[in-house]
Amino acid sequence: MSLLENIQQVKQRIDQACEKSSRNVSEVKIIAVTKYIGVEETKHVLESGLTRIGENKVQSAIPKHEALSSLGGEWHFIGYLQTNKVKQIIGKFDYIHSLDRLSLAEAIHKRATQLQTRVKCLIQVNVSGEESKGGVDPKELFDFCQSIRHYETLEIVGLMTMAPHINDTSPLRDIFRGLRELRDQINQQQLFDEPLLELSMGMSNDFEIAVEEGATFVRLGTVLFKS
Ligand SMILES: *Cc1c(COP(=O)(O)O)cnc(C)c1O
Repeated sequence: MSLLENIQQVKQRIDQACEKSSRNVSEVKIIAVTKYIGVEETKHVLESGLTRIGENKVQSAIPKHEALSSLGGEWHFIGYLQTNKVKQIIGKFDYIHSLDRLSLAEAIHKRATQLQTRVKCLIQVNVSGEESKGGVDPKELFDFCQSIRHYETLEIVGLMTMAPHINDTSPLRDIFRGLRELRDQINQQQLFDEPLLELSMGMSNDFEIAVEEGATFVRLGTVLFKS
C-alpha cells in the first residue's frame, strides 16, 4: 500500500471512531511518527498533507528538523527527553509530549527563558502502571501540576499516555478514559490558568479506542509507514 492510501484508510478509521462516539473529527489531529523512515520519506509525508511530525529520539529528530523545517509543519517531540538534550530541542520543536519529572520542567524553563520563548508541553502520565513505561504516577499528578505551575515559560496544553501493547480492548479503554478523567479533574480544580485541552493517546494498534475516549492527538507510525 502506498503512503497516500494508508493516510486515506487511517482517516476513514478515525472518521468512523468519531461517528461512533459522536465526536467532531476536526478535534482529532494525526501526528505522523517518522522514526521508522528517513529524511526524504519524511519530506513526502509533509507533502502528502500530514503536517504534524513526531520524533522520539533527539539524534534523529534534529537532522530531520534541520532538513525539513523550512517546509513548515508542526514538530512534536514524543519520546523520553534527557535533561542534557533539552537545549537541542527547545526553540525547534513546537510540542513536548513527555514532560514527566520536575528536573525536566526546570531544564525546559531554563532554556526557554534564555531563548525568551514559551514551550507547549503535555504531561506524560503512567496510567497503566507498567513499570517499563515512563510518566508521572496518577497519584502524584496533582502535586506535580502544583509544582510546575509557576514555570511561566511552560505552556501546559494537555496530558499524554502510552498504553501497553495488548490486544484486549477493555483495559486499553480504561487507560484512555483514565487519562481523560485526570485531565478533566485538573481543569475542574483549575490547577493551571488555562484549561488543558489536549489528550495525546492512541498508537497504531489502539488509536480508534483512544479516539472514542477523547484523544485529540493520535501518534501513528506503523499503520502509516509499515503496512
Ligand atoms: C513509536 C511511537 C509511536 C508510534 O507507534 P506505532 O505503534 O508505530 O504507531 C507513538 N508514540 C511514541 C512515544 C512512540 O515512541
